[in-house]
Amino acid sequence: MFDGDGSLLMHVQELETIRRHGINILIVVLNDGAYGSEIHKLRAEGLSDSGAVFGRTDLAAVARGFGIGGETVSDLSDIGRLTAEFSARGGAAVWDVPISDRVCSPVIRRAHPGIGGAAH
Ligand SMILES: [Mg+2]
Repeated sequence: MFDGDGSLLMHVQELETIRRHGINILIVVLNDGAYGSEIHKLRAEGLSDSGAVFGRTDLAAVARGFGIGGETVSDLSDIGRLTAEFSARGGAAVWDVPISDRVCSPVIRRAHPGIGGAAH
């Protein structure tokens, strides 16, 4: 499944549930260090985003702390190897993928046409 960092942090205790029940799941977290949906709306309105930016939590380390796998994916060329390793091992893991907080998702752009989406 795919999740945002803010979303995962709101229900991070579920990582313990996943471990305890031996659930097989790969959680890929797109980590922009903020509540992404909020920062783009705030910026579009010319408002401060400071209340929606919380910094990048090391979610791979958090996952390992809960007793499941955790990887920081900072090079997309690692995806093939990590996928093969996860498929062979099974279990549960969080892949923490740092992303830019300047690129707005297509979903947000469609819902809020006034919001741009710099491609950097
Ligand atoms: Mg986020």
